[in-house]
Amino acid sequence: MKPAPFDYYAPETLEDAVALLEKLEDDDVEAKILAGGQSLMPMLSLRMARPEALVDLGKIKSLDYIREEGGNISIGAMTSKRAVEDSALIREKQPLLHAATLHIGHRQIRNQGTVGGSFAHADPAAEYGAIAQALGMEMVVVGPDGERVVVADDFYISFLTADIDSTEVLTEVRAPVMAAGTGWAFQEICRRQGDLAIAGTAVTLRLENGNCTDVVIAVFGVNAIAARLGDAEQLLNGKAPSEALFREAGRVASAELDEPISDVHASGEYRRDLVATLVRRCLLEAVERVG
Ligand SMILES: Cc1cc2nc3c(=O)[nH]c(=O)nc-3n(C[C@H](O)[C@H](O)[C@H](O)COP(=O)(O)OP(=O)(O)OC[C@H]3O[C@@H](n4cnc5c(N)ncnc54)[C@H](O)[C@@H]3O)c2cc1C
Repeated sequence: MKPAPFDYYAPETLEDAVALLEKLEDDDVEAKILAGGQSLMPMLSLRMARPEALVDLGKIKSLDYIREEGGNISIGAMTSKRAVEDSALIREKQPLLHAATLHIGHRQIRNQGTVGGSFAHADPAAEYGAIAQALGMEMVVVGPDGERVVVADDFYISFLTADIDSTEVLTEVRAPVMAAGTGWAFQEICRRQGDLAIAGTAVTLRLENGNCTDVVIAVFGVNAIAARLGDAEQLLNGKAPSEALFREAGRVASAELDEPISDVHASGEYRRDLVATLVRRCLLEAVERVG
């Protein structure tokens, strides 16, 4: 199938893009932002989305950057995922974000798809949802009323819905530089390499006097939005790492999932079992990384 007809705009500055989105909204024209098109174009072709106008951000070069500032790695929304993959800064200072990026689709997808597009699309099976939760990332959104910063917890609202108004542009995402001595791990299961995950987990932790501390466990692919698993985190904090403890944490993590999705790829119960295994594996790997 081919997309339904739409008007195409390619503003060259962020200010022009926001002004255009505001005008289209005032004129009652349904508009969509186009970034790398890796999710939007298939949706248009399948006519799952029929916007009357596309606002392509591809010419706004000021939204393409990776830099370290104020204890964060800041990434412009139009930065490709390939640039994240190739960034020595991110590999060194935010290895969890780097590792998760390698799991996103295929290299061709990462060449074309943008960081902003992945966060804005809010796919429940997207790796970046879990990374946003695990790292407590911040999203910068710019609209007619100026800039606002949204924390990860508030950013994802529901299935394919993030806290971005129709006149706003996601301009930047910020991940804190990983503190020295942090153990981390990222694992997912998908049917074929490059597919969206059936389920996945991200973990960070530290060790203090031999005990686990600051444990963070995030899960994605199992519910409408990625989430932290607080019961499992609590179970682990203050305890000495062991295979038995991590197996128990996996069980607790799996039990705290609220009605995991059942679809053509897997049943909810299968996803629940996967999470128990992935959490256990991630914890073992994270502790090993602390050394
Ligand atoms: C074969 C295949 C495999 C894939 N596998 C994975 C995978 O394993 N994991 C994964 O996470 N993704 C996967 N994807 C999706 C891919 O990562 C997309 O690149 C990403 O979801 C969207 O980024 P994009 O730049 O292409 O955005 P687009 O497709 O252009 O836009 C996606 C949505 O976000 C909105 N949007 C985009 N940028 C902004 C912005 N700056 N501000 C506000 N709204 C914005 C658009 O309006 C649209 O609604 C896969 C895609 C394909 C085709």
